Amino acid sequence: MSAAKIPSKSGNVTKPWVKEALSTELLYGDGKPHWSNATKQSEARRERVKAVRFLLKHAFVKPDLRYIAEELNHCSPGNRCHCAVCPECGRALQRFFVSECKPLLANGSAHVVSIIDSKMSNREDLSRFSPSGLINRVKSILRKNGVKLAAGGIDLSYNQDKIGKFESHWCAHLWLILPDSNRISWEPALREANPPSDSVPRPIKIMKWDGRDEALAYALKTTFKRRVSVHQKKMSSGVPQRNTSEQDLRVAERIPLYQYLDSAGLHARVFLLGARPTMTDHGFSIVKLDL
Ligand SMILES: [Zn+2]
Repeated sequence: MSAAKIPSKSGNVTKPWVKEALSTELLYGDGKPHWSNATKQSEARRERVKAVRFLLKHAFVKPDLRYIAEELNHCSPGNRCHCAVCPECGRALQRFFVSECKPLLANGSAHVVSIIDSKMSNREDLSRFSPSGLINRVKSILRKNGVKLAAGGIDLSYNQDKIGKFESHWCAHLWLILPDSNRISWEPALREANPPSDSVPRPIKIMKWDGRDEALAYALKTTFKRRVSVHQKKMSSGVPQRNTSEQDLRVAERIPLYQYLDSAGLHARVFLLGARPTMTDHGFSIVKLDL
């Protein structure tokens, strides 16, 4: 018999559609969709156990971590926790998102757009970041500029500069896939709304989508990193250049990240414009809206 689910201190904030979407255990397995570097079921299970150990170890200074640990500890087939900290539930939502969004976007060419929003993305204190604020601001710009469909998600990183050119901060980075049409309108609008700065020299990056699942999966990746800016001079020309090194988060960053994810819910990182999760004759799905 599976153990009873213990409610988190903050209540389960994950939206009902996520629970519908994750109601099939197939999403927790190793069947389709497949992509290179995808996390296997066994790896996600190991990561969940490690997260439980970490949370319990630090619960003596932050007692709320114990509630999150208990939720994750009870996550099992037929009794999933749907907690945004859970590597197994996060991976299942990522697999649902890839399976459902690929057919919506695969008809015709599309772009991958990476956005660090000048007003909404960067916060010294992660608890002051509003995922809906970021999503709504970008949606509004895209809608006004003729975008009728886009799908993606929010990645969170802790950004630091090796020589202190900017203050260390949390960065919420939006990663979207959208069809090519009206790029002549939406690209300048995004660039105008998000000018470069010392901490974000390239706030908007646009690449052609190669049609592979990896780009969709990246939108809802389940590992979060510390990004450290390193300044070097080019060997050939001596011209200064900035590179970013990805490192593991430290305890001081993992604790607020886990608290934040738990309070935000698993749905909070998902971006959908012109499409919505809904029950259909063929099961729970993400369907395109007629706009
Ligand atoms: Zn779970």
